[in-house]
Order: sequence, then structure tokens, then C-alpha cells
Amino acid sequence: MDFFAKSALLSRGWAQDVLLRTDEDGLLSEVRSNARPTRASLRLAGPVLPGMPNLHSHAFQRAMAGLAESAGKEPDSFWTWREVMYRFVSRLDPEQLGAIAAQLYLEMLKAGYTSVAEFHYLHHQPGGRPYDDLGEMANRIVRAAQQTGIGLTLLPVLYAYGGFGGKQPARGQARFINGADRFLRLVQELKARHDNKLNMRIGIAPHSLRAVTKGLLSETLTGLNRMDDTAPVHIHIAEQTREVEDCQEWSGMRPVTWLYNHFDVGQRWCLVHATHINRMEAWMVSNSGAVAGLCPTTEANLGDGIFPLGLYMRGEGSFGIGSDSHISVSPIEDLRWLEYVQRLRREIRNVAATDRQRHVGMRL
Ligand SMILES: [Zn+2]
Repeated sequence: MDFFAKSALLSRGWAQDVLLRTDEDGLLSEVRSNARPTRASLRLAGPVLPGMPNLHSHAFQRAMAGLAESAGKEPDSFWTWREVMYRFVSRLDPEQLGAIAAQLYLEMLKAGYTSVAEFHYLHHQPGGRPYDDLGEMANRIVRAAQQTGIGLTLLPVLYAYGGFGGKQPARGQARFINGADRFLRLVQELKARHDNKLNMRIGIAPHSLRAVTKGLLSETLTGLNRMDDTAPVHIHIAEQTREVEDCQEWSGMRPVTWLYNHFDVGQRWCLVHATHINRMEAWMVSNSGAVAGLCPTTEANLGDGIFPLGLYMRGEGSFGIGSDSHISVSPIEDLRWLEYVQRLRREIRNVAATDRQRHVGMRL
């Protein structure tokens, strides 16, 4: 099919009279500027932008947006929000998860996201017993992506502990828990079933340094590398000041420093949030080629803190955005929040500009 746009943003910048051709799978096969519309081409009304990847999603949380917006007796925080989320999660069944994900992915496509990295931790039955099919819940996510046509990076989550140093998990976490063996079996089964699908990738997501130990993470990465040593690895890190303090108390190091000291973190890694990083850590992340996974509307909603964007931009670090808890599903809103909180905090303008790209909107 042919599409024709008066203007479109291509890798070289804005182009005029652009013909976009797709093949029978719906993938772009040709992009030509200063072209003429073919007779069959569909004329697109406005300027055309490339699709935005949504690099961090917990699909089920779409259905609890709003549920935690009334104040409790104690001051509310990320940790009180998490209690509400655990109560909500204890009731979801596979069919409901599939329906929520399909609605969400359609909303994403309408908002301009064309692919999503699903950080999927809801594995087992309420109470923690695995389903007969280990991939029961994950398969619902895949089906929702196939139904709607969004590209999917499926990241089954490795979650084994309830705090730094291998603490026992809490009851609310029972549906998430796997050891290395069962987790790797899940990844293997998902790969066998879905690896040949179009626009689909399988990686893993160690939930956070709270949820794994060094031994467990090494063992899992070794197992993963045997299957695919380029598979993406996403992890929540340094989202909350309490998390940073707990990590320092446990190891004497801040979370990002600990991770870089113990693992070979490079381009296949996405560090989700990385909100509370210092100058040295910002340099480590940007220098390693890892991607900072920023979720500004969720981080604002949860009261997480503000990512040091200016500092990170100086090292020209890679970053992307995710709608995470889906309190908002709009790349425009997430990018605007990313820049505007920096302006509010620092009382300056155009923070996301770099030496190479002075225009903030274009950079974002
Ligand atoms: Zn998350």
C-alpha cells in the first residue's frame, strides 16, 4: 500500500512530498521524498512522524489508573501505591489480563506508539501456584499484541526476593516469584512458541536489585546467553530514594554503581527510571551505551523524583520513554513532562538540547 505525506520527519530531518510504501505485512518497504503521489496512494492529512517505541509497560496497571488517587491516612508514597497494586493484582485472571492489554495496546497505537516493551511479572495463579502452562499469562500479552498489531518486546520478569540481600518475598508478591530454573524454562518455552512472529522479540527483566541476588542474576544471564546473547535485559533501578538508601546499607554502594561493578552492562541493557543517579553514574550509563528508560508521567504520579536530564545529556546518553503505569498513554505528554520538570526545577529553558541538536522538540 502507498501513503503520501506533504511533510514527514525522516532520519535526515524534515522532508517534503514523501511517498511511503508498505509491503503485505504492513512493514515499510520504501520511503522516497520529493516524490509524486501514485494513483492508489492514500494522502495523509498532517505531518508524519516515525512511530515511537514505548520502552516500559506493565499492561495490567492500565486498569488500576485512578484507583490509588485518593489520599490514605498516612502520607501516600510509591510504597502505599504498591500496596494498592498488590491488592488489585491478586484478583486478575488470564482472560482479564488479555482484555486489558488489548485495549491498552490499541490506545498506544492511536497515541503514536508503534511498539512496546512489556515488563511482565504477573506469572502465576493468585496464591502463587504456577498455571499448568507456565506461559499462560505471558501468552495473553502476545495475543493482545498480535490482535492489535503493535510490535512487542516481551520481557518476562525475574522476581525471587522481597528486598536487598535475598529477603523473603511478601505475600502480595506470590504471583511474581520464580527461581532460575523455572524462569529459564519459561523463557525457553516463550521463545519456542513466539520467536518466529513478526515484530516480536523476547528478552528478560530482572525486576530490580531488590528482587534478585548476584548469584541468581549471573546464573540467569548465563542461561539466557546460551539461548540468545543479544537478547535485551531491562531492570528497574534507583527509582526511589529509599531504594538507594537500602542498597547502600546492604552493599555500601548505590544501585547503579553496584550493578556496573558486578555485571557487564552495555547496549542490550535498559535501566528503567535511573532517577537517583549521581554525576559518576550518569557517566557510567551514557558511556556504556545502555538506555535510560524514563517514564516521566508515572514518575511524577508516584512521587519518585526527577531524572538529571541535563547531566545525562552532556554525555549524549541514550534514552527512551515508557508509559509504565499508564496513568497517561501519550508520547507527547511524557516528552513534555520530561523537559518541563527540568525547567521548573532548575529555572532554565531548553534542557534537552545538545551541542549537536539545539532544537529541543527535534531532540526529544
Ligand atoms: Zn515499571
